[in-house]
Amino acid sequence: MSREKLKVVCVLYDDPVEGYPKTYARDSIPKLEKYPDGQTMPSPENIDFTPGQLLGSVSGELGLRKFLEERGHTFIVTSSKDGDNSVLDKEIIDADVVISQPFFPAYLTADRVAKSPKLKLAITAGIGSDHVDLQSAIDRKITVAEVTFCNSISVSEHVVMMILSLVRNYIPMYNWVVKGGWNIADCISRSYDLEGMQVGSVASGRIGLAVLRRLHPFDVTLHYFDRHRLPNSVEKELNLTFHDSVESMVRVCDVVTINCPLHPETEHLFDEKMIGLMKRGSYIVNTARGKICDKDAIANALETGQLAGYAGDVWFPQPPPQDHPWRSMPNHAMTPHTSGTSLSAQARYAAGVREILECYLDNKPIRDEYLIVDGGALAGTGKHSYSEGSATSGSEEAAKFKKIN
Ligand code: NAD
Repeated sequence: MSREKLKVVCVLYDDPVEGYPKTYARDSIPKLEKYPDGQTMPSPENIDFTPGQLLGSVSGELGLRKFLEERGHTFIVTSSKDGDNSVLDKEIIDADVVISQPFFPAYLTADRVAKSPKLKLAITAGIGSDHVDLQSAIDRKITVAEVTFCNSISVSEHVVMMILSLVRNYIPMYNWVVKGGWNIADCISRSYDLEGMQVGSVASGRIGLAVLRRLHPFDVTLHYFDRHRLPNSVEKELNLTFHDSVESMVRVCDVVTINCPLHPETEHLFDEKMIGLMKRGSYIVNTARGKICDKDAIANALETGQLAGYAGDVWFPQPPPQDHPWRSMPNHAMTPHTSGTSLSAQARYAAGVREILECYLDNKPIRDEYLIVDGGALAGTGKHSYSEGSATSGSEEAAKFKKIN
């Protein structure tokens, strides 16, 4: 039996400054059959969008409007999510379902959860549900679901790009070309080969393992730490060294890539003390979550040279204020949380959100691997990859961001 008429509130990032695209750089995207571990692709009964088009911005609406409105549900889409009088704060009061993307998170803090007594389902259009106060969701028996695996490979590609960009010093080289220069010595005075380096991953889940696999052909020595050890066959295949602590791993690495979720165990894991254990001139690539690193400790380590470079795709809060130190620190290669929202990834997570909604609206079970919290406890992937508690404190700072066009 289908559910009564519901109110679904969806927070998406703004359309491009030049307006919603009328044409695209490519005519199609590859059709993938399954994920690398055999998990099946999102499988909704139907979709109302063209894969490869922009779905994650306000006008894209994740391709959900027709489907929800035809069934009689109310669908609100907004990019107004922070500060006093945001549309989110106004609409969440009687919302049944909230959909948000981690790139532009609708922070569902304890306060917001308390103010939305009807809220029953929080869907993450992507991976990483730390923007939801998971403890409040547990206490209130709100289901939290995400589209597991939808953009894990997208992120792993971004990680490899960032490692090479930092170690080879790509961005300054590009900037010299744009400035009209031919300054070879300036460009290469911080440029090295990755070959032969020690590279370690914090976590070996869907993204971490994909990063390790992609780096293996670069003739580096690979290390990892995770609370779940990989099968012996995988360790052998990739010649991986397992460490029983992050501390043990970072001491031997030249490059560290962070691929674990943000939860109370990992918040500020990379602080001054942890970075102090690393070799001078190491690199950190963090596409997981900004809050896993202490922002001032990272900026200081780049200033002193303890770190030779930092690249990340994730910040806290999001969007970060204009004076966030990671915008101006030396030797960084930051992106504005784009790794998991390529047009290719959007097609998968829009279909995955539709699948989750179809299940929820028709009272069918949501796939176990999509669940983070269910029935008042961590569940599915949440049970495997998270710990109880909340990591949303400080998210109100996102209101300080001023949009530039
Ligand atoms: P996953 O669930 O497959 O893997 C997470 C891994 O982290 C698991 O193996 C788990 O055991 C491990 N882990 C959890 N706590 C740990 C701890 N304290 N120490 C070491 N390992 C720990 O998830 P995934 O698809 O690999 O994604 C991982 C994270 O990456 C997400 O939770 C999200 O925060 C982030 N992410 C970012 C983007 C982006 O666009 N930048 C996109 C997708 C995911």
